[in-house]
Order: sequence, then C-alpha cells, then structure tokens
Amino acid sequence: MIPEPYGGRLVSLLRPAGAGEDFSSMQRIVLNEEESYDAEKLGIGAYSPLEGFTSSGEFESITSRTMLENGLPWSMPVVLAPSGSENESAVGSIRAGDEILLVDFTGKPLATMSVSEKYALRKDVFARSVYGTTDSTHPNVEEIGQMGPTALSGGIRLLRRLESPFSRYELTPAESREQFSRKGWKSVAAYQARNPPHLAHEYIQRITLERDDVDGIFIQPVVGKLKRGDYRPEVIMEAYDVFVSKYYREECALLGSLSISMRYAGPKAVLFYAIVRRNYGCSHYIVGRDQAGVGSYYDPYAGHRIFDQFDVGVRPILYKETFYCSICRGMTSVKVCPHPESARVNTSQTRIRRILSEGGEIPHEIIRPEVAAILSRGDVTIS
Ligand SMILES: [Zn+2]
Repeated sequence: MIPEPYGGRLVSLLRPAGAGEDFSSMQRIVLNEEESYDAEKLGIGAYSPLEGFTSSGEFESITSRTMLENGLPWSMPVVLAPSGSENESAVGSIRAGDEILLVDFTGKPLATMSVSEKYALRKDVFARSVYGTTDSTHPNVEEIGQMGPTALSGGIRLLRRLESPFSRYELTPAESREQFSRKGWKSVAAYQARNPPHLAHEYIQRITLERDDVDGIFIQPVVGKLKRGDYRPEVIMEAYDVFVSKYYREECALLGSLSISMRYAGPKAVLFYAIVRRNYGCSHYIVGRDQAGVGSYYDPYAGHRIFDQFDVGVRPILYKETFYCSICRGMTSVKVCPHPESARVNTSQTRIRRILSEGGEIPHEIIRPEVAAILSRGDVTIS
C-alpha cells in the first residue's frame, strides 16, 4: 500500500499572502540557497512531521540518538543558522516569540517564522554525528563551518513555492501521491539520481520494475545547490524526460525533481532521503553502492545496513555495484558476474565527462543515444 506520511500526517504550511497583508515591518533574514530549499520542503510536507526548523532539544535528540524527541527515527537536523553580517546582526535583535520574514536567495519573501528559540549551534557535534567527521574538506562539513553561530527554531508559514527552470517537475508530496493513485499504483519504488541516466542506472531501475512487489518507479533526481562540474539540473531533467518517455511504459514510471541540498552523509543521508520519499508516497527506496557518499568517508554498504538499525516504514531495495561486463555481454553486478574486473566497462560520470570533453562518442554500452545527444551539446555542466 501507499504508505501514510511519516508521523501519520502530511504537513501543509503553504498559506499565500492575503490582499493587503504587509510583512514590511517584520525583521528579515535572507536565506541562502540550501535554507530556501529547506523552508520550502518544510512547507510542502516533504519533511513531515517537521513543521519548522530544528530546535535545540530536537538537535540534541537527533545527533545523540538519531531520533526526534518523540522517538521517531530521524537522522538529519534541518538547521537555520543565518550567516553574513546583516543576518547575524538581525539574529542578535530577534527574540523568542517574534514573527520574522524569511526572504529567499533571489530576494523575494518566501516564508514567515514564529521564532520559538535561539540557541548556539554546536557545529562539531553536527558534523561528527551526522557526517561522521569534522574534516573541513568534506563538502557538507565545510558548509556547516560557514553557518552562523546562532540557530533559530520555530514553525513556518510558506508564502509561495520557489521558481526554477525545472519547476514543472517539482511535485509536492500531495501531488505525487495523487499521481500514484491515478496510475493505480499501490507500491512505488523511489529512485534517487544526481546525474543523467546511464545504463547502470537503467539496469537497476529495470530490475526493480520487474519485481512483483513494485507497481511503479518514481525517479526523483536531487537538483539542489550546484558545485563546479555538476550537470545543470535542466540537463539532468531533460535527459531523464527523453529517456523515460522513450524507454518506459507510461504506466510504470513517473519523473519528478527534488530541489534540496545534497547531504553527503552516507548512511544518515540514506535514511533521511528514504523518509522524504515516504512522504512523497513511496513504499520502497532503492539503495545502491556508496549512496549519498563522497570521497572515501563511508563504507560503500553502510547505507544498506542502516535499515537494520532503524525502521522508517520504507522497504529498502539494496543493490551491489553494477556494470557492463564484456564477457557476460550485458549489465550485471558483483553479486552475479564471475569475470575479472578488466572485463568491466567503466560507466563512471568521470569517464563520460572525459569522453565528452575530448569530443569523443560515448559507447552504446554506457549511455542511450538520445541521452548522449543531449550531453554532447556542450555547456551541460557548471563551469
Ligand atoms: Zn561478467
């Protein structure tokens, strides 16, 4: 069955401004890109049961027990610790009980917040507990370092959705649930992506779709804040759109996007993303090798084992490393293929980018021609 939202109720905090409503006298905080995405996701219920930014009590509970104070497993604090001199001076004069305005990274009012608490952010605890390291070369630990010293917690009211070139893919949990039911799906596997599809991704999607306990797959690339070398979100979504409509029956796949910052926390991120997908209506969550990992910070299969420790009401579908084997003559995995590593075709994004930058043609064992055509256009990554 389509699972009920995490915590039992889909949070919905979207209340557009009424005529004559005026926010100009409120203290304002300007959110950065990640914080803007988080405010919006809180508002549309993607983080149900959360209704606002994390309090000091929840922070303590999440970082010490991987649970909310009410005992529900939860691995990722959603912290608002505004940075920059103007924000920090505004935080200095904000008091608990104040109603403040949150402005998004493009300068437009996004949400209001009833401040319930102001507390000193324990950055080392955050980094060590969630990311397992305080090494500032870890991209998220570096971001924690750049956060302000003081966190604000409190419930929000979302005034509007964010706009982006991929807005039409940004379904709310209520909308994805409605689409699943229109398709008659009773069980849906979420597939998380960060890159345009290649054949190792497709293989995992196909074998998932062949399972008799999965009616459909919800392909939901994470398209948050970008760093140099990342594919542009428009490119990822266009490639997936072309690919899904050509290679999958409409009855079995749905494409959406998820604009949140990528948390490279290995197992703790896997658990968080599984909870988020449950809110979108997914009963299953596909977990590959080194999911949500970066560098060599995490055991590549720690993201599989986290589900032995915590039950979040989503069934994980676990896959070992997959690849094209030239002796098997098809996609396979370390679980099945007996051949030497030298028979494997390297399908890594690093290799694909290198071939593209040298003007070469991507082998058909790696990528579909329709996707290759999009990637060969140039200007597909952030420079
Ligand atoms: Zn083989």
